[in-house]
Amino acid sequence: MDLDDAIKHCEEVAKKLEVERKQKYESLGEDRALFAEEENACKECADEHMQLAMWLKDYKRLLEKESKPSSNGKIAYWILRHRFYSEISGIRLNTYKCSDCGREIICKADELNNYPYCHCGAKMKETDQ
Ligand SMILES: [Zn+2]
Repeated sequence: MDLDDAIKHCEEVAKKLEVERKQKYESLGEDRALFAEEENACKECADEHMQLAMWLKDYKRLLEKESKPSSNGKIAYWILRHRFYSEISGIRLNTYKCSDCGREIICKADELNNYPYCHCGAKMKETDQ
């Protein structure tokens, strides 16, 4: 189950509960008041599932924002940490560390320009290796 499934599931349960509540209690006529507490509990459950779906949507938006690098005015640079040779792929790789947040990336030396921003929001200057 991914996040979209979970959101869909919560919305579906909320709708289903609401339909069931209406079917069950609206046909009771005058006796409906006798089941007010029970009906409220049912309505609360539906509302809570709707609330849950809304929170999950908020969470999804936050995640999407988080994973999208964007400049926030900070400037940092990639500090070269290690050079190593990958026997399996036969290529030389470097690890770099963000001078601002310490996040590490691994890439080929000539691929550093694929990382113009760090996830912390800093715009990366040329590394001073
Ligand atoms: Zn960073």
